[in-house]
Amino acid sequence: MSRKKFVLALIKHETNTFSPVPTPIHAFGHGAGPMSGGAAIAAHRGSNQPFAAYIDVAEREDAEIVVPIVAESWPSNMATRETFEVLVRPLEDAVRAGCDALFIDLHGAMVVQGFDDAEGEILRRVRAIAPELPIAVTLDYHTNLSPAMVANATVITGYKTYPHVDMYEVGALAANLLVRALKGEIRPVLAHRWVPLLASIMRHAPEDGPAGDIVAYAREMERNGTVLAATLLPSFPHADTPYTGVSAVVVTDGDANTAQVVADHMTDIAWQRRAEFVLHAPPLAESVAHAKQLGQQAQSGPILLIDHCDNCGSGGAQDVMAVVAEILRQGLQDVAIAPIRDPSAVAQMIAAGVGSEVTLALGGKTDMPSIDLAGKPMTVTGRVRALTDGEVTITGPMYTGLKTHLGRTAVLDTGDVQIVVTERHHEPYDLAVFEHCGIDPRRKKFIMLKSRIHYRAAFKPLASHIVECAGEGVTNADLSVYRYEKLVRPIYPLDSI
Ligand SMILES: [Zn+2]
Repeated sequence: MSRKKFVLALIKHETNTFSPVPTPIHAFGHGAGPMSGGAAIAAHRGSNQPFAAYIDVAEREDAEIVVPIVAESWPSNMATRETFEVLVRPLEDAVRAGCDALFIDLHGAMVVQGFDDAEGEILRRVRAIAPELPIAVTLDYHTNLSPAMVANATVITGYKTYPHVDMYEVGALAANLLVRALKGEIRPVLAHRWVPLLASIMRHAPEDGPAGDIVAYAREMERNGTVLAATLLPSFPHADTPYTGVSAVVVTDGDANTAQVVADHMTDIAWQRRAEFVLHAPPLAESVAHAKQLGQQAQSGPILLIDHCDNCGSGGAQDVMAVVAEILRQGLQDVAIAPIRDPSAVAQMIAAGVGSEVTLALGGKTDMPSIDLAGKPMTVTGRVRALTDGEVTITGPMYTGLKTHLGRTAVLDTGDVQIVVTERHHEPYDLAVFEHCGIDPRRKKFIMLKSRIHYRAAFKPLASHIVECAGEGVTNADLSVYRYEKLVRPIYPLDSI
């Protein structure tokens, strides 16, 4: 048998169409820009990502490997059409040059100027060039699935965990199914279903509600061989598209009817239990007071305060000071906070030097016209405790092994509160955000994190209590703050159905 040629690619962006954060081409690659070829393989090999599984499976199959594009950006607002073309053109060229299969690591909630489902457009273009090409696709849990994605893929799998700690496993499943299809061992067919349900991301985690029961059912259907893969996609509600909503996608071996029955059952459970996908958050002052009160009792570990409405991991500016301000107002002590993104504050602290006292207008540099929120900096006085280059390697269970770039980083210490301030966006899903600048999070009484769920990967095992704090920002759990225009209506819970 002649040697097969596999194209492996990664184009990922979770687009928050309400975000004030732009998405230039250099944002893909977290500052370094897109990668390709051997450099992309070297950067991702061995990491906990679908793309790393693609590399391993392709090498195991002794395939010729072509990597035209590897590009992932932090969540932010939509990229321009020009940027999209720069990302997709190398992939189109690679497919046009001829190949036996495509393995592509996508997000599933990417919007660009002109395309509400960028992934559907990517796959549609590939299929237009090579109509019979076998294509394996992996998707993030926060996917807004479009019919074009399903119509133009051979196999689709998605994460079953949140925090996403099964990325490699999901990539391996997709890749192995496609390899079996290439060998003629299986004949994958897909079915999907969408329901008009806008689920709060704070209610997505399998351990928290209905998603857990649906994912358990999907796993059982895979384990007992009813299906090849079954994926729940609870959606990314901060994207104003006609595809935003909860869906499921199922792969079977030649049995379209069973695939549809399983997809229907998964989304039926979601619909029947839709009220459980709505977050009812107490007022901020009440949450911080509750955390303070917990702090007066003996602790087995730090109390986490979760600032989930300004999470850069979903498009937040990461500089909204509402929760920090409330922590200072209520006088919590022995607090570590991470991270506030404020390049100018970092520059001021670098200029002052370690040990100097500074007074800063911290954070609040970003206006959010989409939700009528103006940036409000907070005046804070403290000592510069540490300065770093922000280059860290992830050791926790999420993105294990990946190098990440916080940008230059400074710690502002007010005595009661230590604030990690970074130049770049970073959701704190790993202890490295504190440890690399000399803070031991295990020894703090309180830790405030700008995160929603991903912090749980590394911080939940340390915590004695977790207190969710509804502050402000473009990742608000109250979805009624958004002015949707393209969303399909009626949709629950914005409309009563
Ligand atoms: Zn996600």
